[in-house]
Amino acid sequence: MSVIHCEDFVVSIARALQFISCHHPPDFIAAMIDAWRREESGAAKDAIGQILLNAKIAAETKRPICQDTGMITVFLKIGMGCRFADAGKTLQEMVDEGARRAYLDRDNPLRLSMVAPPVGARRNTGDNSPAIVHCEYGPGDGLEVMVAAKGAGSENKSKFAVLNPSDSLVDWARRVVPRMGAGWCPPGVIGVGLGGSVEKAMLLAKKSLMSPVDMPELLRRGPGNRLEALRLELYEAINHLGIGAQGLGGLTTALDVKILEYPTHAASLPVALIPNCAATRHCRFHLDGSGPATFTPPVISWPEINVKNAGCRRVFLDKISRAELADWRAGESLLLNGVLLTGRDAAHQRLAELRAAGRDLPVEFQGRFIYYVGPVSPAAGEVVGPAGPTTATRMDKYSRLMLEDLGLFGMIGKAERGPDTINLIRDNQAVYLTATGGAACLVAQAITAARVVAFADLGMEAIHEFTVRDMPVMVAVDSQGHSIHHSGPAQWRRD
Ligand code: SF4
Repeated sequence: MSVIHCEDFVVSIARALQFISCHHPPDFIAAMIDAWRREESGAAKDAIGQILLNAKIAAETKRPICQDTGMITVFLKIGMGCRFADAGKTLQEMVDEGARRAYLDRDNPLRLSMVAPPVGARRNTGDNSPAIVHCEYGPGDGLEVMVAAKGAGSENKSKFAVLNPSDSLVDWARRVVPRMGAGWCPPGVIGVGLGGSVEKAMLLAKKSLMSPVDMPELLRRGPGNRLEALRLELYEAINHLGIGAQGLGGLTTALDVKILEYPTHAASLPVALIPNCAATRHCRFHLDGSGPATFTPPVISWPEINVKNAGCRRVFLDKISRAELADWRAGESLLLNGVLLTGRDAAHQRLAELRAAGRDLPVEFQGRFIYYVGPVSPAAGEVVGPAGPTTATRMDKYSRLMLEDLGLFGMIGKAERGPDTINLIRDNQAVYLTATGGAACLVAQAITAARVVAFADLGMEAIHEFTVRDMPVMVAVDSQGHSIHHSGPAQWRRD
């Protein structure tokens, strides 16, 4: 029988979370490099290139891959022959203690994203706890642990249905994946849970994402069984949709498709689909009582990537006019210089409430740009921590307020805008720009100054002023209402 000390378990969880915050799994990076080499769409290739450059910076600087450092999920498999020593805490409490230590680490502080209660005040819990802990018992006398930190952009796009037993899973995926848009920061991995009950299917989909990316090998050797054939069929169907990196249109949307299945009721076919994003972060370790787990950064042979800045239009935000905006075209790359504001869900909600109450706003928006971001707190020597874009679609409900009432010139985020917002952009001669989701370290390198200008109590959701130098973005919706998220996938779709 092995005896596991609680402190070893807590330390291992903390180390795992720190490790995955800045290191992708090597199999994921290998598949991303493969996709980058094969990509034929210029916009998508550039986005994948930025994701890879960002991954390299994160690994080298030991800072988070993405500003959303995730919701913690832990799968535990406890050997029947193992026990915990000095166990004054529950498993949940031990995992949460590990989370606390990891997320409040002084050298590499991670973003605190968890709020409670989920409806109402939604106050930040202050240490990114609680984690989501799943536990099962099995043979053996050790403890198997899988740890993941999942960003909300991809988690929010999860799909579930109970199909008729005779329905086609592939047809269902063809219908629902385009509806996921680009907020999940493709390319990534699609996890599928098949069968069981409603809750079992979701859990299978989540767990399937923990296995290594092996699609390149499967493509080489061909399927060896029914599930592998289904994985291949889904992989081809999803990539033929043409969504591409960041939804800009391209060859690769899914780097891999993973499936776990379970017997189900004769009348049911529950199916769950959960995407894992460009910031795929997970690892596994084993404890046998001999001490805490250690983690070694993978050795990765990074390709030479040149993100093309030459020829990009250089924009100076402090003296921009509507006439200049009218000249920009969807799909065009820009380098932003000057001062922009930040804000996301909570700040927009508060602005709307102040406005509805007839109160003054703390910031002037006329003629300015807002960047949808919740940055990581800075570590020593940093102006700001990793600061990539969050999903713009969530801010669509505030577009009329921001564009029509407050006179904002432009918004910067990731993923597509809804039809009403696109019409508002056109009618107000404004623009929507997109930065590469999951390239948070790369964006942070372009930020030369940062200060909070309103709603400091909102933490990472406060309104900041960022001064940027050559921040790379793309025009996603131009002032004529053309959207790259419509034209790109339409161009690359293969039916
Ligand atoms: S890569 Fe995109 S979806 Fe993933 S954590 Fe970052 S912002 Fe969220």
